[in-house]
Amino acid sequence: MRMDGLAWAFEQLNKLSAGICPGCQAKVTYPALVCSEPCKRKWFNQIIADVGETKRVTSSVTGKTYLVPTRVILEVGIKHDDLINGKFPEVT
Ligand SMILES: [Zn+2]
Repeated sequence: MRMDGLAWAFEQLNKLSAGICPGCQAKVTYPALVCSEPCKRKWFNQIIADVGETKRVTSSVTGKTYLVPTRVILEVGIKHDDLINGKFPEVT
């Protein structure tokens, strides 16, 4: 799988390496990324507002590209099987 979507998700996570909650600026200790559920929701909503509701993710195996909800990438991540098994709409 080409890593566009996942690499992007990791980039978002790496922005938090300073140990500061992106929701309220409180100090957090790794592996915690945010201080609370409300701050996590606030942060995810901000990312989605910045990058859009969906991201294009391409399978390097099939070469097909799918539209994956940004929220799914952030909250649960995506597996290659999910990508190619019709869980997400294909785009051409
Ligand atoms: Zn917070």
